[in-house]
Parts: sequence; structure tokens; C-alpha cells
Amino acid sequence: MDHDRIYLDHNATTPLRSEVLDAMLPYLGAVFGNPSSIHTYGQEARRAVDRARQQVAELIGARPAEIIFTSGGTEADNLALRGRVIGVERPHVVTSAVEHPAVLNTCRDLERRGGVEVTYLPVDASGQVDPSALEAALTSHTCLVSVMLANNDVGTLQPLEALAQVTTRRGLPLHTDAVQAAGKLPLDVDRLGVDLLALSSHKIYGPKGSGALYVRQGTLLAAQLTGGEHERGRRAGTENVAAIVGFGEACALAKAELEREVVHLTALRDQLQTGILTRVERTRVNGLETQRLPNTLNIGFSGLEGEDLLLNLDLLGVAASTGSACSSGTVDPSHVLIAMGQTREQAASALRFSLGRDSTEQDVDQTLTLLEQVVAALRS
Ligand code: PLP
Repeated sequence: MDHDRIYLDHNATTPLRSEVLDAMLPYLGAVFGNPSSIHTYGQEARRAVDRARQQVAELIGARPAEIIFTSGGTEADNLALRGRVIGVERPHVVTSAVEHPAVLNTCRDLERRGGVEVTYLPVDASGQVDPSALEAALTSHTCLVSVMLANNDVGTLQPLEALAQVTTRRGLPLHTDAVQAAGKLPLDVDRLGVDLLALSSHKIYGPKGSGALYVRQGTLLAAQLTGGEHERGRRAGTENVAAIVGFGEACALAKAELEREVVHLTALRDQLQTGILTRVERTRVNGLETQRLPNTLNIGFSGLEGEDLLLNLDLLGVAASTGSACSSGTVDPSHVLIAMGQTREQAASALRFSLGRDSTEQDVDQTLTLLEQVVAALRS
């Protein structure tokens, strides 16, 4: 990789940290046992998985037994949703219109094939759900509420604690997709009041294809992968030991460095935001400025196409995004911005910058200079 390039797409994925790679390497080599085997080889692998489970649990204030390792955020969301509704009579799920496709498309599939009724809560212009709308949407058949903690496109945070007050009053389980929040916000499952919470390793400098679902003790959940008794019978399949070890290490580092990281990211994000708003005409911030991920900046460039900006910036060595990674390659503007009430034209003019732990002031300065040039060329 050309290291003169500037990577401002950390919400899509993050580079593997060297400490994480070092922690993983033995489990890609000499330590190859199956954690289910009772001999010494197996025990060594089991110890590594147990340690990682502890590290993941500590990041979110959970108990190790409440962590189920999965193949990533998508599987964790699928397990939460499918595991709660399958087998329930006339199930009703409430979610929001701005969820990641891992939740939205799972809900749509459950509607189409699973006979599940789903309510998609609207959001305001900043991307937030109104807790009173949740209250009004609940029925006697509601068996799950699923609202993300932080949005991947605009960074807006949802009022999870207020939503949890509603679900707790009604005795309903609350799932949150915390994939983007991890490593950028303090996370505590008790303070949030959630029963299920999805995490992904590759958003926090861990390996891809690894993640977890937190399941509060006592929350019923039907396994979606059947087979052996792995993960206490909740997710069958021999554990991906090296990826789990890497994920655990990434969680431990994220927890240890959180405060410093938030200060670093916020300063750079604000520098970028102020620079764009003052130096590039007809720009606006999409999303909430206060309740927002510290690393995320989504900007609308009036009259321009985000896609054109992205491709031109990429030619000059700056990587950004027009929305979630999963919608790249399609021309549909972000469903998040549409749900926030923007026109297709406004939504298509958006560009997302997401900073990371290696981002620097020089990266931001250079990006501002190049962005000014690109916008001037496209508008002339
Ligand atoms: N949820 C959110 C909010 C995300 O941003 C992503 C990844 O883009 C996912 C879920 C999916 O996670 P994974 O890539 O680990 O399947």
C-alpha cells in the first residue's frame, strides 16, 4: 500500500493493529488445537478463547458467559433478530429506518419469509428516533426492539437509555447494533439498559470476519447455526481461534485507549469540519453535531455528486465514502439521509469522512487542500 495515501474511511474498516497481529500469530501457527478437545492442545486453544471472551466482556461491562462469538457484526445482528423471533407466534419487531443493512435487510427477510410484522420507526432531520414513537409502536405481539447505538453514515447517536426505559417498562428485550460505537464511546450494557448488543472486530483494528453478540443472562435466544455445543449451544461451529484472539486483543486496546482516542478523533473531526465549512462554499453537516461519533463527519456539497467527489479525491490519494461500505458500487443515495428527510439530490451530494487512530492534523490539512481543488474543478 502506498503510504502517502490518506485513509478517511474507518467506518468501513480499520487496519489491523500490529499488537493484534502479534497476539494472533501463535494461533495461526504452533497453537492449532481445537478448543473443544480435552487434551493439552485443546486446552491451550480454549484458554485463549476464554481470555478473549473476558476481554470482549470487559469492553462492554458484561460477563464472559454473556458473549457469543460470531463471524462479525452481520451475524451478530442476524442472531439477535432471528434468534428472538423464530418460533414466536405472530411476532412483531420494532426497529428504525436508519439501521445498517445487517438489521434492515434481516427485518425485510423476516417480513417476507418469516411472517414477522416489522415497524420501522422514522427519524428526525438529525437522524434520531423519538422514544415516544417507540412507545406508540409497541403492540401486545412485540417481541423485540432493535435500534442502533451509533449510525455508520452520519454518526448520529440514538437516545438508547431513553428507549431502554420504554422497553424495560414493557418488559421487552432491546437489541442494539453497537458496531460503530465500540472503541469510540464508553459502552456499558447495564447503563445502556440493553439485552442484546452486536460488535464487530474489524471496526476496532481487529481482524475481519470476527465479532460477538452480547446476550444478557436470562434472555431467550434460539440458535441459528445448529451443530455442536459450541458457545453454550448458541452458535455451533469450531471457533476461529486466531480471529477471536485478535478481536479480544483489539477490545482490550480499545478499552485502555478510549479516552485518549476520543480526544484525538474529536479534535481532528472538528478541524476537518470547520475547514470544510469555512473553505468550501455551499456545504452543510448532515446529522447531529452534538450527539455524534467523535470520528465521523458527513457533509452535503450542494449541487455536486458525492460519487464524483469520492472518485476525484481517490485519484489524489484520499479515501472517503458516500455512505456505508455495503452500498458502495450502487447509485442509490444513502437510505439514512433519505430517512432524515433529504431529497435524493441532497442525499446524493453527501460525502462521509471517518477518522481513525493513525489520522493526523497533516492528513486533515492535506485533505482540505485537495478537497478545495476538487470542488472548484467540479463546480467550474
Ligand atoms: N452494523 C453496522 C452499524 C456497521 O457499520 C457494519 C459494517 O459496516 C455492520 C453492522 C456489519 O458488520 P460486519 O462487517 O462485521 O459484518
